[in-house]
Amino acid sequence: MMDKKKVKCPYCGHEQNILYGPRAMCRGIFIRCKARQCRKEFEITINQDR
Ligand SMILES: [Zn+2]
Repeated sequence: MMDKKKVKCPYCGHEQNILYGPRAMCRGIFIRCKARQCRKEFEITINQDR
């Protein structure tokens, strides 16, 4: 089974409804945090360090 992770908001740590696998690479995509008290927009960066 693939080890999927959830995207977390860097401001409040809330888990978003977006899953990514170990081979995913991502940047330049922005979402708005789903937490009611947060709602901040942030960039999804995944595995940009390799
Ligand atoms: Zn948040």
